[in-house]
Amino acid sequence: YTAKDRGLGVCVFDADLDDHSVERLGLLGQLRRAIDNRELVLHFQPTVSLPGGRLRGVEALVRWQHPERGLLPPGEFIPLAERTPLIRPLTRYVIDAALEQCARWRDAGLSLGVAVNVSVPNLVDERFVHEVRELLGRWRLPASSLELEVTEGAIMADPDRARRVLGRLAECGVTLSIDDFGAGFTAPAHLKDLPVHQLKIDRSFVARMAVDPRSALIVRSVVELGHNLGLTTVAEGVEDQRTWDRLEELGCDVAQGWLVRRAVPADGLEAWLDASGSAAVPDLAAAGTAT
Ligand code: C2E
Ligand code: MG
Ligand code: MG
Ligand code: MG
Repeated sequence: YTAKDRGLGVCVFDADLDDHSVERLGLLGQLRRAIDNRELVLHFQPTVSLPGGRLRGVEALVRWQHPERGLLPPGEFIPLAERTPLIRPLTRYVIDAALEQCARWRDAGLSLGVAVNVSVPNLVDERFVHEVRELLGRWRLPASSLELEVTEGAIMADPDRARRVLGRLAECGVTLSIDDFGAGFTAPAHLKDLPVHQLKIDRSFVARMAVDPRSALIVRSVVELGHNLGLTTVAEGVEDQRTWDRLEELGCDVAQGWLVRRAVPADGLEAWLDASGSAAVPDLAAAGTAT
């Protein structure tokens, strides 16, 4: 039973589209307007260095303030957008908004790098590098204020092209991270040739490492691999003190997770920085201010 059967006058020939296709198409149209109406909002989650807990930067995570459905998490619209050309203006919007916030903080004396997630279509788009440079110029920010996160899947979709685009971004001075590392299939041989600076260890391993020796072993191996290649290692999804302590023992460089702070709007992050005495982790409270 297709869109045509429902009398909508459109017929979609896409084997991937399932029963929810009509709903999805509706959502896609709304998403297109949402970009113009600035309904997409960014939340920011801090990353802190291990062991001291010093603030290092923030990751910008997009949400959709939907007029009827409330605040939608990225999982509800990013995968959909990634299957269409809409992901290009969407990523551009997120980078622009993240750099705008970064420039504001900088004007207020807070020098913080901001990380943005990018998708497959961005990574194979030769114009993307030009766009990134243009946006940095627009906000008068050095390239070192921007980090871009790409997944292994995005790189492996077209490794040669991805390597070229990443290489040009790295030449500009943008910091590059592989996100969700360990969940995909990047061969160490590929990794060696990629111009990336950081490995973000997939949350699934980090979340279980305190209770599951095999997950702990994977985290240890990724930290070693990263360090052998001269890369910074970041653990995402750090939820408790035991995990923090284990990561510290393993020599992991950076932590991100609910133990430190959840993703919050910019003003929430500022309030957290001001009231560093109320940070979740005692050591962080002592060391985690931003200067
Ligand atoms: P990601 O880049 O791996 O981001 C980390 C996700 O883990 C975020 O979910 C974050 O809120 C969540 N998280 C952080 N710390 C913890 C923790 O301690 N425990 C648990 N259980 N979760 C934690 P979020 O914001 O829902 O984002 C999900 C994914 O959506 C992101 O994964 C990223 O792949 C994608 N995404 C988010 N924003 C954007 C964007 O602007 N563009 C694109 N292309 N993708 C985005
Ligand atoms: Mg990420
Ligand atoms: Mg991740
Ligand atoms: Mg993830």
